[in-house]
Amino acid sequence: MTGGRRGRVPGEQPDWELLRRRMVRSQIEGRGVRDQRVLEALGRVPRHLFVPAISRRSAYDDTPLPIGHGQTISQPYMVALMTEALCLRPGAKVLEVGTGSGYQAAVLAELACEVHTVECIPALAEAARGRLLALGYNQVRVHSTDGSPGLPAEAPFAAVLVTAGGPRVPEPLRQQLAADGGVLVIPVGNRLVQILLRVTRHGSEYREEDLGGCRFVPLVGEEGW
Ligand code: SAM
Repeated sequence: MTGGRRGRVPGEQPDWELLRRRMVRSQIEGRGVRDQRVLEALGRVPRHLFVPAISRRSAYDDTPLPIGHGQTISQPYMVALMTEALCLRPGAKVLEVGTGSGYQAAVLAELACEVHTVECIPALAEAARGRLLALGYNQVRVHSTDGSPGLPAEAPFAAVLVTAGGPRVPEPLRQQLAADGGVLVIPVGNRLVQILLRVTRHGSEYREEDLGGCRFVPLVGEEGW
């Protein structure tokens, strides 16, 4: 072939690494996420292996995608924003409520954390567990249960991340934060739109910050809808 751009041969795999680099630069860095460790983590996790085969070519698009059972894998920017908001230190113990595909848990694991992630739909929990193990994310433990009251047996957590929208901040999640600066990030609002809240604990004091609007699937269970 001379000159011009070579068209992709049907069936040929896209250059996933290139797509991932572009995603990080334009969707994430370009929107103001600055934490180098978070940018590098998103640059490493193979997002296309966390979505159903039919959506694989859209894996690095600027959008959430369906993962079955009426649930979604979150938009890459939202994953980055929430991860940055947790201000994680290496080795931090983290709880994620809402495993879904396991993608966010893999991003957390890339930040050298001990990760506990909870999913209430057993089929999603099982699929995520297998996927994370196959990709070598051995420091992630997937729990198949209602995560809205947290995981008291594993508390305290340096950070708690809820990836589904609830009607309020569940009191048990606040209680399970480490007393010396533990951080909880959670979408709170109605079933359609929420604000992203960051709650930071210092002893018996809890400081709340509004990180902006967002849209998540509902948090169900004891402390959810
Ligand atoms: N973090 C996921 C990822 O990286 O793919 C995306 C999460 S998806 C937006 C929200 C998930 O929260 C769904 O899989 C849903 O089943 C789960 N969920 C909702 N309420 C829950 C609860 N009480 N306990 C555990 N999981 C819950």
